[in-house]
Amino acid sequence: MTEARALTGWLWRGYLSRHLAIIVCAVLLMAIEGGMLGLLSYMIQPMFDEVFIAGDRGAIPIVAGGVCAIFLVRALAGFGQRVLMMGVGQKVSAALQADMVAHMLRLDSAFFQDNAPGLLIERVRGDTLAAATIWAVVFSALGRDVVALLSLLAVAISIDPLWTLIAVAAAPVLMGPMVLLQRWVRRSTRRARSVAADLATRLDETFHGIDTIKLNTIEAREARRYGQALDGYVDAQIRSEAGQAGIPAMMDIVAGIGFFGVLTYGGLQIIEGEKTVGQFMSFFTAMALVFEPLRRIGNVSGAWQAALASLERLHAVFDETPTILSPAQPAAAPQTPETADIELDDVVFAYGDLPVLRGASFTAKAGQTTALVGASGAGKSTVFRVLTRLADPQSGRVTVGGIDVADLALPDLRTFFSVVTQDAQLFDETVRDNVTLDRDASRLAEVLDAAHVADFLPKLSDGLDTRAGPRGSALSGGQRQRVAIARALLRDAPILLLDEATSALDAQSEAVVQDALDRLSRGRTTLVIAHRLATIRQADKIVVMDHGRVVDEGTHDELIARGGLYADLYRLQFAD
Ligand code: ADP
Repeated sequence: MTEARALTGWLWRGYLSRHLAIIVCAVLLMAIEGGMLGLLSYMIQPMFDEVFIAGDRGAIPIVAGGVCAIFLVRALAGFGQRVLMMGVGQKVSAALQADMVAHMLRLDSAFFQDNAPGLLIERVRGDTLAAATIWAVVFSALGRDVVALLSLLAVAISIDPLWTLIAVAAAPVLMGPMVLLQRWVRRSTRRARSVAADLATRLDETFHGIDTIKLNTIEAREARRYGQALDGYVDAQIRSEAGQAGIPAMMDIVAGIGFFGVLTYGGLQIIEGEKTVGQFMSFFTAMALVFEPLRRIGNVSGAWQAALASLERLHAVFDETPTILSPAQPAAAPQTPETADIELDDVVFAYGDLPVLRGASFTAKAGQTTALVGASGAGKSTVFRVLTRLADPQSGRVTVGGIDVADLALPDLRTFFSVVTQDAQLFDETVRDNVTLDRDASRLAEVLDAAHVADFLPKLSDGLDTRAGPRGSALSGGQRQRVAIARALLRDAPILLLDEATSALDAQSEAVVQDALDRLSRGRTTLVIAHRLATIRQADKIVVMDHGRVVDEGTHDELIARGGLYADLYRLQFAD
């Protein structure tokens, strides 16, 4: 329970309290709306006793006008409070989402490998909305329904305290089952939301992998897997909602028993003339109306339990802290990064228990091209990750110009590098925006030419303003790479990390891309994961990696002459 209180406090202090004035107004309106119910039941007595039974014609307009006015006030107050609360709910949800996304963007890349995109999307969209909109329900229960309940009970007690007691006598008996039911709701809702996140993940993977699915003819398998996941969702959702529906059902049982008691006892009193018909009708109306707010108040706790589950998940994400951060006192960045050597010294890195770099050491000289070669899985891409601090090694030193990368401010460090990888990462924006990424675009025409983007622009429907599609899917592989090269040229970072395409391109576009890459690497320190013979031949140095270690280095001719792993790799991969 303290945990629930802590979560609520967090949401209140962080997000709701800034809307305090509006919430207070809304709660006042709710109180007016709720109080009108009490007033209505109060008006029933004169309606019966003075108009219908005593036959006082003059009282008709007063009673009728009074009832009409009650409904008008209720309408206005109800409308006002709903609009205000809805606005607060939406604003809180938006603020939560914005903070969540900003927070997630600071988290380590590893967090996004552990948590599937679909799951995170469900957190950002579904859980924030659930946590924010529950407040409208809670406040209207507290404001409107509690006031309605109290005013109706006041009318009922003023007519006969004993009748009132009889009417609600069954309520305490159901307290125990109610508490159990609420626990059940919380548990089943938590499950339902986790299955909802699984569903989102499945959809995400299906849509991203649509070509793979088609080519492997596993459409039926994917549809079946989604169907199975859906079954689990439906099951969990039904349990949760059945639990929530059980709470008002219990209220109705209490109401039924109460009415039975009052009718049996009170009916006799009226027949014997101890009470008037007006009093009975007024009491009856109050008690009939009391169960609706009571039911809603009962419902609140179920809905609240459900929202707590969302709140817990949100809080868990906010509790995640990035481990890859700028140091408290960053070192001064190298003044002339273009003359800075890159060095790995005994670097050890593992994904969990899986060692990937096991004491890798090498130097890449400034201004030269160093080629990384080695079998797939040898750890070449991981070298890029530790250099740019997408991942931090468990031990060893990674330095640029003699400065440990961990001692530099992250933005300083990352401006040193342009990374161009096989899967050119484009966003669903225009080609122009993909190249500039909001940077100064004064050299745009020049870099578009140099990267051979200008060559294919006329073929696109809107030229530079053509959208690249999700992950650049509207462009061909070669075009995507050229856009990425143009981006790197505009960035003009002194160090180039290049992951060469294996065989994705046809000979002609490969030649064009190669030319663009040659221009990009000119005058820069270049570290290239090499797959092409021409690249390794031209490299100033080749670093041979095997199972996370550097096993040899030298020029092509030296390595061939030595006849080690490189010679084997070379024969396998490159020689005819
Ligand atoms: P290379 O670039 O030489 O092919 P990588 O550096 O990409 O090798 O990967 C080295 C090893 O790290 C591989 O065995 C791969 O399975 C593993 N690996 C890469 N990324 C992850 C990850 N996110 N989680 C767990 N293992 C990973």
